[in-house]
Amino acid sequence: MTEGLAYRPSGPGHASVFCIDIGGSFMKFAVSAGPGLLVALESIETPATDWSAFTRSISGLLARHADKASATAPLALSIAGLVDPRSGRAISANIPCITGRPIGSELSGLLGRPVVAANDADCLTLAEANEGAGRGHSVVFCAVMGTGIGGGLAIDGRLVRGAGGVTGEWGHGPILNTTVEVGGTMLHIPRFSCGCGQSGCVDTIGGARGIERLHRFLCDRDETSRQILQDWQDGDERAGTTVAAYLELLADPLALAVNITGASIVPVGGGLASVTALIAALDGAVRTRILNRFERPLVVPAARQEDGGLAGAAVLGHQWSLAVEGR
Ligand SMILES: [Zn+2]
Repeated sequence: MTEGLAYRPSGPGHASVFCIDIGGSFMKFAVSAGPGLLVALESIETPATDWSAFTRSISGLLARHADKASATAPLALSIAGLVDPRSGRAISANIPCITGRPIGSELSGLLGRPVVAANDADCLTLAEANEGAGRGHSVVFCAVMGTGIGGGLAIDGRLVRGAGGVTGEWGHGPILNTTVEVGGTMLHIPRFSCGCGQSGCVDTIGGARGIERLHRFLCDRDETSRQILQDWQDGDERAGTTVAAYLELLADPLALAVNITGASIVPVGGGLASVTALIAALDGAVRTRILNRFERPLVVPAARQEDGGLAGAAVLGHQWSLAVEGR
């Protein structure tokens, strides 16, 4: 079920869709005249704590670019937060003013056009599945490795949202191992407490903050993930220990996700994806742990890392338009 369908368009011909990638700091606005076509129009600050200012900002964007698409062209949103597919209500730590609101239907009513919304990781998943590294693959599991861990699942180019819209969120399940062997030494890793209330989640070790936490625990050093990963690539022994343990711990749950979903490609987004040596090492570790055999990389950097939110929102908008026209 797609969220935010309160507004029914009056006729056919919604070829173009507007899309906004809404982060905690900025909104990026674009128009898409068809699948694979995306024209960036404007970027403005996000009024993250003020709903009235938030809606005025979106109205302003649409008004300033009214000549780029029809007055009833759908608006598709990628948001830094979760959207419950049943209730349509959003939860966002970075954009507090949308939390608890059925954002799609509320904005549809205010703007007089259909509005569809999805989580930013889900939008990256759609972008990768249709126009990125996952193109041509039936099952695409997209792993987002940024400050924390997220993800999404697409089958035949369409998003699987699932109960609560949390499909693909592999960050808040357990890391399987608490003991790893690195260079002949057994290392015991504690179950770090997680922001979700559980302990031992993938998120506590898998993202940039997680690598830093692991490095602090194993090597008693406070360094940024960027520094740790650079030191690792330069052959530093301590960083090498941290990254070796990291790969052992992270490859298990990712391999499990590959087995369960049947994904034939795992594009990785988020800041850590820019460290291609890390993604290549993770790919090697995952491929030794799964049932299927791939003679090519399975875990790869996302191709739409830069504009995945916008590109995925555009895909969402076009898919919605086609579904409406087909009714
Ligand atoms: Zn958690």
